[in-house]
Amino acid sequence: MRKAVRKRRRAAAVLVLAVLAAACGKAGTPPPKGPQPSALPSYQVQDAAAITGSSTLDAARSRGHLVVGAKEDQPYLGQKNPATGVYSGFDIEIAKMVGASLGFGPDKIQFKTIASANRETALQNGQVDYYVGTYTINDNRKKLVGFAGPYFVAGQSLLVRKNDNSIHGPQDLNGKKVCSAAGSTPYQRIKSQYPKAKLIGYDTYSACVDNLITGQVDTVTTDNAILLGYAAKVPDELKVVGPLFSTEPYGIGTPKNDTVLRYALDDALARHEQNGDWKKAFDVTLGLSGEPAPTPPQIDRY
Ligand code: GLU
Repeated sequence: MRKAVRKRRRAAAVLVLAVLAAACGKAGTPPPKGPQPSALPSYQVQDAAAITGSSTLDAARSRGHLVVGAKEDQPYLGQKNPATGVYSGFDIEIAKMVGASLGFGPDKIQFKTIASANRETALQNGQVDYYVGTYTINDNRKKLVGFAGPYFVAGQSLLVRKNDNSIHGPQDLNGKKVCSAAGSTPYQRIKSQYPKAKLIGYDTYSACVDNLITGQVDTVTTDNAILLGYAAKVPDELKVVGPLFSTEPYGIGTPKNDTVLRYALDDALARHEQNGDWKKAFDVTLGLSGEPAPTPPQIDRY
């Protein structure tokens, strides 16, 4: 790499750190590491002995804890505090409330970060008991895994730099460098429906966002719920633009053939939506990115 380029890159990296640090310290901006633990609801741990015939649950019972797949870099949804290793966000709360219904308190849930492209394999290999991480339910994936839910509905959108006036929706992506996570539905949609975009795939959306801030890509595309979290962290640098151009119903991924587990998770979601836990959890997590709590979607017990 030429010296000048290297110098510019280094300066850009320093700038990003400075921007993030400034944003974190500003009054009125959300806390950098997600919701305060004291604000989070707690969920009543149920006696789940009556739930029998789930090989996943049996294995978790003899292990003594659940292993739940999640994301670790999606603000307000699934985020891991690098200092403490603690996961937080709306998806994490969903994982905890349904875990409580299966008989496992929060201290009996071990979270494991799994990237978008590796979710089906992780569920198929038994690396995780279930998965909660902005995971869209669709027919292709249903051939490989099961889905409880949906518990939330998002839609694909675009994140750009605050000073960008050239991208207002997917119709403006011709020739633009568009970044998304490999193995995700938004990545696939750009590839098939917007072939004139220059599509770049990374493992994570946070890698895309870093590249957006430093100018290496023009936009990051995925679900609005995810993008709003990134924008809320650095509102002076980033903005979400355009209409939602897909429907992304979020489900809890399960091993495909464990229908006992899937129905138990559907029951658990229904119960926590009814008793107010779902809304409480939303308000102190995803609600912080500026969206009011919607009515939870109809659960699809297929
Ligand atoms: N909901 C979309 C998906 O499941 C995008 C978000 C993600 O990659 O987790 O592919």
